[in-house]
Amino acid sequence: MDKRRFAVLSDLTVSRLTNAVKRSRPGRPVALIPDLLFGFMSGVTSADPRPRVVAGEGGGRVAGRRCTACGEVCAFAWPACPECGGAVEPAEFGPLGTVWSATVVRIPVPGRTPPYGLAYVDLDDGPRVLAHTGGPVPVGARVRLVPGDGDVEVEVVP
Ligand SMILES: [Zn+2]
Repeated sequence: MDKRRFAVLSDLTVSRLTNAVKRSRPGRPVALIPDLLFGFMSGVTSADPRPRVVAGEGGGRVAGRRCTACGEVCAFAWPACPECGGAVEPAEFGPLGTVWSATVVRIPVPGRTPPYGLAYVDLDDGPRVLAHTGGPVPVGARVRLVPGDGDVEVEVVP
């Protein structure tokens, strides 16, 4: 399957991007604030680019979208299907998944004391999401989403 993605720009994103270009000066780069850049790439203009995790049976569930035409799933509130451009409907995914890739971060960021683990997790019935793991986890480990606000968190399933 062709997994190329395309940006779906909302009217708000186009307007903000246009204004940023209008304010720029010759020879100077256009100042793009992070959420505008994220919005440009994804079509999602939220200031918080993290998937939303809600409490569900057996653990957390990612509140995302499913395409009504091709069945493509995504972890964000896209306005249209990133695969075919079709209509999307709200859908929840998880709580179980498999670690696709993982690393240990040794750079301090606000709210996180290094070292801490990060992993891309393929949810069993949904999209791939970036999640905090607490510590190192092996590729292929089975994990469960932990419900909560903010960062997506997973715990290893024994
Ligand atoms: Zn689709």
